[in-house]
Amino acid sequence: MTDVANNEQNHWNRVKGRLRTNVGEDVYTSWFARMDLERIQDDSVHLSVPTKFLKSWIQAHYAERVLSCWQAELPEVSRVDLTVRSAVRAPAPAKDVKPAIEERRPERLDNRPIPELRATATVPVSANHDALGGSPLDPRLTFSSFVTGRSNTLALAAARQVAEGRHGDPVMFNPLYIHAGVGLGKTHLLQAVTWAGNSSSDRKVLYLTAEKFMYGFVAALKSQTALAFKEALRGIDVLVIDDLQFLQGKSTQSEFCHTLNALIDAGRQVVIAADRPPSDLESLDDRVRSRLAGGLVVEMGSLGEELRLEILKSRVTAARVHHASFDVPLPVLDYLAKTITHNGRDLEGAINRLLAHSKLNATAVTLEMAEREVRDLVRPQEPKRVKIEDIQRVVARQYNVSRSDLLSSRRTANVVRPRQVAMYLAKTLTLRSLPEIGRRFGGRDHTTVLHAVRKIESLVSKDLTLSDEVELLKRQLQE
Ligand code: ADP
Ligand code: MG
Repeated sequence: MTDVANNEQNHWNRVKGRLRTNVGEDVYTSWFARMDLERIQDDSVHLSVPTKFLKSWIQAHYAERVLSCWQAELPEVSRVDLTVRSAVRAPAPAKDVKPAIEERRPERLDNRPIPELRATATVPVSANHDALGGSPLDPRLTFSSFVTGRSNTLALAAARQVAEGRHGDPVMFNPLYIHAGVGLGKTHLLQAVTWAGNSSSDRKVLYLTAEKFMYGFVAALKSQTALAFKEALRGIDVLVIDDLQFLQGKSTQSEFCHTLNALIDAGRQVVIAADRPPSDLESLDDRVRSRLAGGLVVEMGSLGEELRLEILKSRVTAARVHHASFDVPLPVLDYLAKTITHNGRDLEGAINRLLAHSKLNATAVTLEMAEREVRDLVRPQEPKRVKIEDIQRVVARQYNVSRSDLLSSRRTANVVRPRQVAMYLAKTLTLRSLPEIGRRFGGRDHTTVLHAVRKIESLVSKDLTLSDEVELLKRQLQE
């Protein structure tokens, strides 16, 4: 890499860091993780994303933040151009060359409203179909490969119940809402419901990620078939929506709300997964939240050691179908189950590495090799759950005020800012809802908390000292 490129990359890395702090981890990973820096030229920064959908979403919702994060890094930047990377796209047939070229032309991030929403003519007829085709399913994620343990028995039973229903059966709980942290089996269970439902009964089960739901809706709007899209969506028996926490934007949310109501009122089943309970989905309005909470809400806890061992065993069995010579001795499995405590994804990753290593080197799996191969998957402890009291204590110490000052109604500048910082940290580091945070800060209203969060969000993107302080506090709290 040349020095210039290297330098640009360093700027970009810092901007990404700011963006991540600014919008929070979830939003960052869903919208910005696949954003790349193309180049910096004079006062313009050129960024790219892999899909048109991501581009319009970022333009419509995050244009200013992206720009201000760049300005905090390089004050001379005055515009950010966003393009769709063409390399990953399948080559377009000759007659489509024109729109493909148009798509690559950069557009100013601050162009609003989104120009594509009006570009009805170029949208392929299949966009609507595509949206209703559902998100891709992984054939391995079925009920038979789902291992049960204490943490997921109830969720599994409810999911089976839903999958076994028949067209026209009365619905027992609606919606079924499953929540759990990352890698604890939500997607696995939802896809199992979809496979089982579609293969065994006369019902139509549709699996959509929240992103796909939004994309389907945006695409339908573009091709002005929103009505047909809604009708088609309402024509299915079971709607399965994964990662609901990523559903964003007023119009999509109100669309989601209508769809939810229409399906539930028509006696159709809705199954939802998210990383938090309905009450903590702040961006949704109260009515949707209470509708979501009105069915069966089930939490899946962390995977216990026994469950982890069973998952590992089932992964090995699955791998042996194609690689008969692959074997992992029990002591190695025990070691993995004891040390890789974090989530199911890492367990799967560990088995994949052992498989790759033993294939490539034509050697048997040993404990010593396993220790070496999975070293980086072993996390010393579960990530710490940050408590609101800890936040208050650490912030009070940092700013040299007392904890009771933070909770008091005093409005002098030396307590107002620390209080706002503490509320902001409570919002970003815990799953507590705004009203709950308000209660914990001396019985304040949730709008006060929201105001504080927004205030600090906007300050950290401009004020480097504050942004460093906030980073430091986060690090102290998460250690
Ligand atoms: P989530 O959607 O909650 O983030 P996933 O469903 O993607 O998690 O699970 C992550 C990985 O762990 C997948 O490979 C999944 O098959 C595996 N996994 C999680 N829980 C179980 C389980 N109970 N039985 C079998 N595999 C599991
Ligand atoms: Mg998932």
